[in-house]
Amino acid sequence: MATFKEYLLAFAYILFPDNCLACGGAIEHGEKHICSVCRMNFPRTNFHLDKKNVLAQKFWGRTKIEYSIAYLFFKKQGEVQSMLHYLKYKNSPEVGTIMGNWYGQELLDNNFYKNFDVIIPVPLHPKKLKKRGYNQSAYFGNGLAEVWKIPHLENGLEKVTNTKSQTKKSREERYNNMMAGFIVPNPSKIQDKNILIVDDVITTGATLEACANLLLKNGAKTVSIATIAATQH
Ligand SMILES: [Zn+2]
Repeated sequence: MATFKEYLLAFAYILFPDNCLACGGAIEHGEKHICSVCRMNFPRTNFHLDKKNVLAQKFWGRTKIEYSIAYLFFKKQGEVQSMLHYLKYKNSPEVGTIMGNWYGQELLDNNFYKNFDVIIPVPLHPKKLKKRGYNQSAYFGNGLAEVWKIPHLENGLEKVTNTKSQTKKSREERYNNMMAGFIVPNPSKIQDKNILIVDDVITTGATLEACANLLLKNGAKTVSIATIAATQH
């Protein structure tokens, strides 16, 4: 349920469409969607500096993730949550691009981005994609790819529910081809690649685990993950 603060922010945005989507404050000329105060004060995780960070630990014993990174810490009822809410539910996909651009620039400094050959977003089911009109994770991936100048394979993974076409295949083939409703439509495009899977926010990590396992089974060299936000624990 939306909090009173969220209602106020939504209301403010209707009246003053140039307000910051994170804090609701006015944005200055030249700023877009997120004000420079929020940009400065966003709580960075700096997970790229610590390979054994709390996000990486979530996947220990579940799948092999090379690097687990997230731009910001997620706190309920905070600026980051508000911004993600606009990204996901209020038809503001450009916020994903902005986050990708900013995070991408911050990771340019130490050449961290050179660990990746290709970016693949966590896909939405076609029905959900049609309803929302965009895949917010793909906007984030695109934002990173723009700055790093590496390929963004938007359809590197696909989400499906109809498994009928799979029934003639052997059990092992089915396992290789599909995990938790995800498929790799063109395995040749990911062979021996260092892949960065991107998503908007991580909670349990089950989706990213399934995607990572699937990419590794289909020939990826390494798999890493990056999200806009992650919890502190
Ligand atoms: Zn702000």
